[in-house]
Amino acid sequence: MFSTPPEVRGLNLDLQTRCLHYDSPLDIIAIKLKCCGHYYACKDCHEALVDHPIEPWPRSEWHTEAVLCGNCQSQLTITAYLQSNSRCPRCNACFNPACRNHHHFYFAVPESTR
Ligand SMILES: [Zn+2]
Ligand SMILES: [Zn+2]
Ligand SMILES: [Zn+2]
Repeated sequence: MFSTPPEVRGLNLDLQTRCLHYDSPLDIIAIKLKCCGHYYACKDCHEALVDHPIEPWPRSEWHTEAVLCGNCQSQLTITAYLQSNSRCPRCNACFNPACRNHHHFYFAVPESTR
């Protein structure tokens, strides 16, 4: 099913959702933030553009499509993204494995698995 890619907000965005802060070849995902309901390239873009703190997604809502692959523009559920081994399950593009270190900003990851 084709749907129009969602709008992504951020600073110095490119077509694959890289931004001013994260612009390596692997930084191709955008994340929808629960607090605003909009996709942002990264949490630093969110911080630069709005004046409220990020609200992480509670585990009970991880079935929500909240991760956008900048390569194929498909939206993944949070669970699918977290289980993807840093590769898009649809187009096989590599995601930045270092994003893992930032997951707790976006998703309410249990303490023990951080
Ligand atoms: Zn927000
Ligand atoms: Zn950014
Ligand atoms: Zn993809």
